[in-house]
Amino acid sequence: MSKIVGGGPKKVLYTLNAVRHIGLKNSAKALTAKNTCKACGLGMGGQLGGMTNELGEFPSVCNKSVQAQSTDIQSPIPSEVFSHSISELRELSPKELEHTGRLGRPIFKAKDSEHYQEVEWDWALQYAIERFQKSEPNRSFFYASGRSSNEAGFLLQLLARLYGTNNVTNCSYYCHQATSVGLGSTIGTGTATIELGDLAHCDTVFIIGANPASNHPRLIHQLKNCRDRGGNIIVINPAKEPGLVKFSVPKSPASMIAGGTDIASLYLQPNIGGDIALLKGISKAVLELGTEDKTFIESYTDNFFAYRNDIDATTWPDIEKNTGISKIKIYELAEIYSQSDNTVFAWGMGITHHQFGSANVEYIANLALLRGMLGKPHAGLLPLRGHSNVQGIGTIGVKPVLSSDVFQKIEQTLDIKLPTREGLNTLASLEAAYAGEMDNACIVGGNLYSATPNSKWAEAALDRVSFKLYLTTTLNQGHLYGIKNEALVLPVCARDEENQSTTQESMFNFVRLSDGGISRLDNVRSEVSILSALGKGLIDKDLPADKTFSFEEFGSHEKIRDAIAKTVPGMEDLKDIGVAKEEFYVRNRLIHTPQFNTENKRARFQIHAIPQPKDGSDRYPFLLASIRSEGQFNSIIYEENDTYRYNAGRDAVLMSKEDMKQIALKDGDRVTVRSSSGELKNMKAQTFDIPPGNVLAYYPEANVLCEKRIDPRSFTPNFKSVPVMIERFSS
Ligand code: SF4
Repeated sequence: MSKIVGGGPKKVLYTLNAVRHIGLKNSAKALTAKNTCKACGLGMGGQLGGMTNELGEFPSVCNKSVQAQSTDIQSPIPSEVFSHSISELRELSPKELEHTGRLGRPIFKAKDSEHYQEVEWDWALQYAIERFQKSEPNRSFFYASGRSSNEAGFLLQLLARLYGTNNVTNCSYYCHQATSVGLGSTIGTGTATIELGDLAHCDTVFIIGANPASNHPRLIHQLKNCRDRGGNIIVINPAKEPGLVKFSVPKSPASMIAGGTDIASLYLQPNIGGDIALLKGISKAVLELGTEDKTFIESYTDNFFAYRNDIDATTWPDIEKNTGISKIKIYELAEIYSQSDNTVFAWGMGITHHQFGSANVEYIANLALLRGMLGKPHAGLLPLRGHSNVQGIGTIGVKPVLSSDVFQKIEQTLDIKLPTREGLNTLASLEAAYAGEMDNACIVGGNLYSATPNSKWAEAALDRVSFKLYLTTTLNQGHLYGIKNEALVLPVCARDEENQSTTQESMFNFVRLSDGGISRLDNVRSEVSILSALGKGLIDKDLPADKTFSFEEFGSHEKIRDAIAKTVPGMEDLKDIGVAKEEFYVRNRLIHTPQFNTENKRARFQIHAIPQPKDGSDRYPFLLASIRSEGQFNSIIYEENDTYRYNAGRDAVLMSKEDMKQIALKDGDRVTVRSSSGELKNMKAQTFDIPPGNVLAYYPEANVLCEKRIDPRSFTPNFKSVPVMIERFSS
């Protein structure tokens, strides 16, 4: 196996190639204009311009950002493409489909037709209005990805609610909802407690169940800086990710010349689903070392004694068995943590994508509380969010249940009535669809089909929705599967093409303003203008004449921002952002003093038994986690091979060398991976550094294997501890 170093010259070359492909004029404009980066939730750009962060750091290569730009700058999909049937279009790989071009005109597929046809905007909007008019509102659901702006998200949820349903949901029900629940029960908030600047001063960072080398590239700079000042990076991940071992940081000549910088100072590889056992083990070692912060615990937390009793009752053999990690290694980690003054805990979907995702998050918070790493500067909790505005979409109300204060403020401020029946989350909406209880779906951005567990079931569920309205910039498999009935797909502006400014919230709770204004295609519309037109046709006509609110007026982003500022606590500064251009932190989110957002202002230790992700039968002896590749962003595929994992293809199953030997496989042998819900045939076995009994395959292809098991508290599906069997493939 060749030695892989993350980052480095190949990332620079990739970027240069992509920039060449974009064209210098376009790329310079796109990458330096005052717009928020369209990719990950770390957040970049906005009013500081281009790829500058809120600390004013610039420039630095980020291939993820360039990848996101590369598909937006394409020409419109030629009309001839739609002369091909849906079955023919399905023959394109997700990457090829994404690269057919930008969707340049509305397209419609009639029930049982095999073709999309281009249609005019007026017809499309009127048709959508009529389809929604024909239904009882609770037989529709409205979904947004984290690509949309705060303005579009707020209008979408208003549209759904004034139409008559709270079936309003978003993609975080497939990613970090477990974080919101787990942090809510421990510290009374659902987002990061730190700002970016805190990372510049901490001495230890935990990276748990995440691969920021591929998914949040510029976080690596912060990790390298922490190492440079003598700090520690502790990585907890079943897979030994090369980009977290060594990374050649493009911004640092020294790092590039040296052939890479060590990132992880300690790398522990627990079994998939072994996080709670490991976090209990670290806590146990801290308690045995006597390095817990007794003053902090006594002054600012509840339930510690019950927590301590549970940890005492958890035995080392149990911890070692469930994690696959020795007590000695866990002690090594606990000793590093015990010497830290300021630790930041960061985690990704390796933590949330389990049936016990919320409990996983609670145990991270427990460990932080144990040493008083909350409620002070330079230490705290940092969920690594995926899409650039996934957090904002939740903040401004794209969710099935609004908090009571937001609900009341919206009713009072806008002088409207909202429905009270509880709405359905993402998977529940699809369950209802599968049961034949959904007539319409409005799907804004994303790729709901591919993102859903149990792909065959997802297709059948979406097939049963009579009319689906999609808003998108490019085509993806979500527009080709689950569309047996009618599908209308409307082309929208990318963020930097909006004709009014928009706002986005980063995972650090920092709200940026995007100017928009770049003109590329002449027949695409902004999401707000589309939603405003739908609201005008569906709802405005039934509002009393003396109403102050109308969807027609809410075509103005300023007007929407004013409404958000008045109704969503913490977003007050949004009101003037369009004029003052002052970006801001959502109020009351950063926790730099030990005052928590719980009723009694104290944080609360939470207790759970060590979960058992396997069902105990021998039928499915492996646990599979789905993963994303270096050339991928969420469900969008930009490159077929994963340069950070020995060029593994999309059809790879990554296995330990012990397991390969056990079932007499060598690299490249073809296998079938089977779970209780589906199978992936003709996959390519590939050796990877992962503990025996654990295997990896790429998302979203591996979703066919994921059952619809969810964390019952957050409704987050179990994408990452799926029991499977592996056998040699025979055709
Ligand atoms: S790290 Fe994330 S937010 Fe920053 S430039 Fe890269 S993709 Fe964009």
